[in-house]
Amino acid sequence: MALLDKEHLRANLDEVIWNIEEARISVSEHHIVQLVAVGKYTQIENIATLYELGQRAFGENQIQQLKERMHILEALPLQWHMIGTLQKNKINNLIDLRPTLMQSLDSIALAQELNKKLEAKNATMNCLLQINAAKEESKSGVLSEEALDIYQEIKENCQNITLKGVMTIGAHSEDTKLIQESFEATHKIYEKLEKEGATICSMGMSGDYQLAIKCGSNLVRVGSALFK
Ligand SMILES: *Cc1c(COP(=O)(O)O)cnc(C)c1O
Repeated sequence: MALLDKEHLRANLDEVIWNIEEARISVSEHHIVQLVAVGKYTQIENIATLYELGQRAFGENQIQQLKERMHILEALPLQWHMIGTLQKNKINNLIDLRPTLMQSLDSIALAQELNKKLEAKNATMNCLLQINAAKEESKSGVLSEEALDIYQEIKENCQNITLKGVMTIGAHSEDTKLIQESFEATHKIYEKLEKEGATICSMGMSGDYQLAIKCGSNLVRVGSALFK
């Protein structure tokens, strides 16, 4: 971890934005992609500098770090996304932080627990259903085959959760085809959910965001490419 100067961060951000632009135009000029900058590997000072350069949406994968950073930067008009596995005992902490979007709702059990605690606090939360499209043991998320049913069940039974779409982490592989398949599987599910009002298909990280966009992603979560 190092403090990065503004010009250095500007060059990184320009490169990422340019790559996003190239990929999204190849899909359609009407295909808009949101960039969420993932700050988990970097210091808060670099997040503040990226804000000065125009970036507004930031993601963290740990509640404690999210809380600290939201607090320190509370004067800035930032959007904060939770992108990591949420332990049940941290649910109330997350609710109190009122994130813009909780991207990592990864099981029906978590949804039920989250909904119960949202109800108790008379709050709601925007969430994405995380899909383990590559069926990797090390990853959380629901299986592709079950995703539509689970999405439906959460919509019907968890009134305080507002589902906005899906999130996936691309297959952990050197094989581009495997990564592409995991994105395509997730996008297929997203297309079906669009008819029910889903608007966000969150796919793509530093190593694969261009590929993800070409497979239909409209939100990319980029960390190391911005803060390298
Ligand atoms: C860390 C992380 C990212 C960003 O990863 P990079 O490869 O550094 O871009 C995106 N999504 C999730 C869920 C993450 O945990």
